[in-house]
Amino acid sequence: MGADADSEEKGRVERTSVKGVFRLEFEVPWPPYHVAAYLIDGEEYGSPILVDAGAPSEDGADVLSETLGAVGYEPKDVSDVIVTHPHSDHIGLVPELREAGADVHAPRPALEQVRRTEEELEAGVREVGREVGYDGERLDEAVEKSVSSLERNRRLLEPDAEGTHELGYGEFVAGGRGFEAYRTPGHQIHHASFVTEVGGVKVLFSGDALIEPFRPAALHTGIDYGAFEAVDAFFEAMETFESLDVDTVFPGHGPVFSDTDGAVSSTRDSLNELLGETVSAVSSVGPASPVEVTEERCGEIKYPGQLLDVIGALGTLEGNGEVEYEKEDGVRMYRTI
Ligand SMILES: [Zn+2]
Repeated sequence: MGADADSEEKGRVERTSVKGVFRLEFEVPWPPYHVAAYLIDGEEYGSPILVDAGAPSEDGADVLSETLGAVGYEPKDVSDVIVTHPHSDHIGLVPELREAGADVHAPRPALEQVRRTEEELEAGVREVGREVGYDGERLDEAVEKSVSSLERNRRLLEPDAEGTHELGYGEFVAGGRGFEAYRTPGHQIHHASFVTEVGGVKVLFSGDALIEPFRPAALHTGIDYGAFEAVDAFFEAMETFESLDVDTVFPGHGPVFSDTDGAVSSTRDSLNELLGETVSAVSSVGPASPVEVTEERCGEIKYPGQLLDVIGALGTLEGNGEVEYEKEDGVRMYRTI
């Protein structure tokens, strides 16, 4: 079941291998060109729940009613939305769902992060941006981008609106259904992944923390305090995933899968490859700033993820005693040990 493939459509929906879970896909303009949200129907516990809320859209209300309509639901049927992490492609239709009456559950620290002031964020981006080798104009641009995404995320998530529930990690109930929330950072510092049982099947909603067949970038905090901890945090999340014995994984991008251990091990391989490539780049161009190390590894920097991956890798390599840095003019200049 599902909507016909039609290039005009901004959302589509399909049944998954787990009875009671539908996958909603929304268009995004970057590979793999879709983001998934999941509807758990109300058969077992009375009310339908969404995990994540797609990408923002000017005609979001229509996209939502058409997509849900294809499986016989209306936006007002959704009692609760659970958010894995505050990136726009996962909270895009939260305003439309609130409008239709849904409650919104998000990790407490993610809501706190969205409440931060622009000034506080700017201080972090300026300090860390300087350390990684951003100069005047590029630094201003980084500040501008971070501030505008904070403002957009705050508008989408509305952390203080009525019907917002702050999740701790651990057990919680949404729409009458019990979940377990796990902290799974690295892609996003306050990312949560959710485990529940649907029709006797233990399922994991992994957001962007565990995906097949690729590893999401270690964006973690963006260019901000904590950026150098991104890769360590990603490895930590893999330990958490490894300890969960689940049957089916519903990720934010890419296909639904069942081989959790395989995805954990390919994510670790990819992180280790990143560390290896970063240390070789440092040894070729060092002493060098994180920006220069990234340019050595990737060529011209096209996506923020390329720089953020390398910043995170440098943090891990420093902790392992493989690289060190001295600050020159406030910029971290890395060399191998
Ligand atoms: Zn995403």
